[in-house]
Amino acid sequence: MSQTTAAIRAQALESLLTERGLLDADLIDDVIVRYNERVGPMNGAKLVAHAWSDVAFKKRLLTDATAVVNEFEFSGGQVDKLVVVENTPDTHNVVVCTLCSCYPWAVLGLPPKWYKDPAYRSRVVREPRSVLAEFGTFISTEKKIRVWDSSAEIRYMVLPEMPAAWQGRDVDSLAASVSRDSMIGVTVLDAN
Ligand code: FE
Repeated sequence: MSQTTAAIRAQALESLLTERGLLDADLIDDVIVRYNERVGPMNGAKLVAHAWSDVAFKKRLLTDATAVVNEFEFSGGQVDKLVVVENTPDTHNVVVCTLCSCYPWAVLGLPPKWYKDPAYRSRVVREPRSVLAEFGTFISTEKKIRVWDSSAEIRYMVLPEMPAAWQGRDVDSLAASVSRDSMIGVTVLDAN
């Protein structure tokens, strides 16, 4: 089904349900606004920026991300058991769900289309270096790549490395520079 066909069908279904009084159109608008404005990668970016700026916070985030995330009261769910893995000069981390599309909504929003693609899901496990290269991410062969397989029980998020040039920036400006894909681990952040 093309995206346009899907959109038309969704709209037709929405009109029908609204007309029959089974669905409240305002409620749908609320959900859309919530996912666009309050649930999204800006929440994960906030955690990353805090972790870069505060060593004690970072330690807590890497030890018990679930507890930390609960303090922030992000909405969106899917973080009942969240594990944050840190990129270091020795190790690059990348996240997948080989089985379906498990993803930490409250910190990253809704999963991108390619995350749900069977090709990404099967290939990133077998040949992570090649898949990352297709994202324009070239990881040195000296560096180990760890692939984390999400499940209904555990969701993962990557704590990317901060470009050295960002040293000294405040938390808000750092958060604004952290991309979604860097928190899935398919890209790295660069200073430009
Ligand atoms: Fe899944």
